[in-house]
Amino acid sequence: MGEYQLNCPACSEIIFSNDWLPQCSTHSGLLRAEYFTEQLTVRSNLPGMFRFIDWLPVQKPIQTDSRPVTFQCPPISKMLGLPNLWLTFTGWAPDFNCYAKTGSFKELEAYPTISRLSNLRDRTLVIASAGNTGRAFAQTAAETGVNVVLVIPESSVSSLWTISSNHENITLISVSGDYADAISVASKICSLDGYIPEGGAKNIARRDGMGTTMLDAAVTIGRIPDRYFQAVGSGTGGIAAWEASLRLMRDGRFGQTLPKLNLVQNQPFTPMASAWNRRSRTITAEDMPDADRSVSAVYSPVLTNRAPPYEISGGVFDAMTACGGDFHSVSNSDAKAAFKIFDEVTGVDLDPAAAVALAVLIQAAENKTIDSDETVVLNLTGGGYRRIAEDLGTVPIKVYENVPPEISLDKLRSILEVF
Ligand SMILES: *Cc1c(COP(=O)(O)O)cnc(C)c1O
Ligand SMILES: [Zn+2]
Repeated sequence: MGEYQLNCPACSEIIFSNDWLPQCSTHSGLLRAEYFTEQLTVRSNLPGMFRFIDWLPVQKPIQTDSRPVTFQCPPISKMLGLPNLWLTFTGWAPDFNCYAKTGSFKELEAYPTISRLSNLRDRTLVIASAGNTGRAFAQTAAETGVNVVLVIPESSVSSLWTISSNHENITLISVSGDYADAISVASKICSLDGYIPEGGAKNIARRDGMGTTMLDAAVTIGRIPDRYFQAVGSGTGGIAAWEASLRLMRDGRFGQTLPKLNLVQNQPFTPMASAWNRRSRTITAEDMPDADRSVSAVYSPVLTNRAPPYEISGGVFDAMTACGGDFHSVSNSDAKAAFKIFDEVTGVDLDPAAAVALAVLIQAAENKTIDSDETVVLNLTGGGYRRIAEDLGTVPIKVYENVPPEISLDKLRSILEVF
């Protein structure tokens, strides 16, 4: 299960390495796992997302119910005039058989990452997060006993909870700053002995875990969809959808056409949409004017990555170039309207990011920019928080220490008691 070799997208070199975050010796591109099992067997006897273990870089499943679930929602299809619309949801919605306890598709990243970490058990995993990633890792850490340090902006403290009260191996550091400041504090911590970075897009377990969304959609529908809609901050989910589609094409049973990517950002912070729409491989200052203010003005804070893996080889620009499609942006008010519609129709409160993606699909349907016969997958990346609170109960994680963004390495060393 999950046996693979790594390929560099820039030179096609095959890389043999057991490093946590392996690199090509000459390029900085995102290495891609090429699984020896060409045809996917869905192992529905394995827990949750590990049904896709053939194409996950892990040896052993972790006990979980968390997985993406693909289904049709006739009232939404009818409203949008898209009979071949499929929703792939990762969140908590028992009515749709969705049981991701922290409510977002970041769990698809956390479980395989922690499974892959199993031979580095003596290390502490460091995760910078705007909220959802931290919560997913916190829950997984509570379930498995792996040690994690979570670094988050102060404003995200309320989104850090788990459904279990066992927080012994979780150290929560808040930063008086934004997500970019949390990333910089986390990278300082990673220079300390015994700490390793989660790795972001460079972590193949993260990408292939998120790619299970596309796998679940394809095995449910019977083919690779014509279009894939997702709200993006780092764009890793978009890269993952592309990579998963390439594997499905090699499998041979799901079609030979890549899905068009319809990726969405939340106005006014839209660096990737802006760069892509002028077909620039680099994101420059003009793509994120007044960044500090725009970051704090969005409805969906998890979409505010200032340094996404966009220009890197094998990254978002390459994914968009290979797949085609569009980079969109939507206003807070349109996203909030989409949230309300979905809540009224299904009773599920979407994560704001998922509402951002739905908003753009509503616009595309209204403007008739998609044909009514197209097979469309909308990745609903999170939601169901109301029911999580009711069904499971949530326990807030206590902040261990609040630190300023410019904190020194020595101070961090003494806070974490690394000597
Ligand atoms: C992180 C996140 C996104 C964006 O994911 P990327 O593919 O990493 O850009 C979208 N929706 C939710 C709910 C998220 O937590
Ligand atoms: Zn290379």
